[in-house]
Amino acid sequence: MTARVPRVLLVEDNEDNRGIIRQVAEMMEFELIEAGNGLEGVERAQADRPDLIVLDLSLPVLDGWEAARRLKADARTASIPIVALTAHAMAGDEARARQAGCDGYVTKPLDIARFQALLDGYLRGEGP
Ligand code: MN
Repeated sequence: MTARVPRVLLVEDNEDNRGIIRQVAEMMEFELIEAGNGLEGVERAQADRPDLIVLDLSLPVLDGWEAARRLKADARTASIPIVALTAHAMAGDEARARQAGCDGYVTKPLDIARFQALLDGYLRGEGP
């Protein structure tokens, strides 16, 4: 029996973070799909239907909050969990992210162990 490899869409414009999350993907053995701006992220999600979306909030072209709203308003992507990723550790940002439809929230710089545990929960269907 071969288990299906989970697919995670990473929408992130910061190359350092993309590199870190590529390493996490390798360690956790999931397939990583990457997009560098919010619009590309929405399009990739609609086309590829990943199991989970990790979404930076501060993105070019279309910001993460608007991308989350579009993903949750689209029947093709509405049920895919979204974990928001942001450097803005400001009061109110988590609430705004959740209002936009994000299911979980992680602040940068990434705590790798915590991030892995969160992804593991989502990919096992256990939620945050
Ligand atoms: Mn960014």
